[in-house]
Amino acid sequence: MNSVLIATQNLGKLKEFQNLLAPLFKCLPSDHRAPEVDENGTTYRENAFKKAKAYAEIYQVPVLSDDSGLEIDVLHGAPGLWSARFGGAGISWTERFQKLYAQLAPFPAEQWSARFRCVLCFLIPHQEPFYFEGVCEGRIDQNPQGSGGFGYDPIFYSSQLGKSLGEATSAEKAQVSHRAQAVQALLEWAKKNPHKLS
Ligand code: IMP
Repeated sequence: MNSVLIATQNLGKLKEFQNLLAPLFKCLPSDHRAPEVDENGTTYRENAFKKAKAYAEIYQVPVLSDDSGLEIDVLHGAPGLWSARFGGAGISWTERFQKLYAQLAPFPAEQWSARFRCVLCFLIPHQEPFYFEGVCEGRIDQNPQGSGGFGYDPIFYSSQLGKSLGEATSAEKAQVSHRAQAVQALLEWAKKNPHKLS
């Protein structure tokens, strides 16, 4: 089975990748050598590439990175690329949600449509990168619901599931999530291009 190093220090993401990639890849976690990557790119793709490149240079194995974000329509796509830093460094998720609700307050809740976007970068050292994208449509819930998943999951209502991602089981989230869609595209590509993996 092919192994791939997951370029993240977010355990929630790592767990999702391990489950989603299980049919084709063994996912390796990073260790103390994991670099701090400044996510200062202007696109998800650029940030995903920066992460993959930084990890591949250190570990010298195939690497999978992702950059993802929450895009809220009435906020013109914010926090988007800034999702991880929204509200400032070091604040709790409860505080982050409150800051987001303060920005949404001028708009009626029916207008809080949103989506998660995920761009994956698959990089084999010294080769060209490959990119895969996934989107999960929904809206911001009026209150956080559930405590499953990670990050913004409790305030993201999935129209497909009829509940927030914080209330969804990991199997339910895997049916609809942006990361799952992107991984699906990667798996299909990998099945069609096995020679590219070695
Ligand atoms: P990054 O991709 O590591 O830059 O993370 C972007 C931000 O979006 C982080 O704050 C994540 O917690 C959040 N995020 C990314 N994917 C998800 C998800 O599946 N559920 C909830 N929050 C997410």
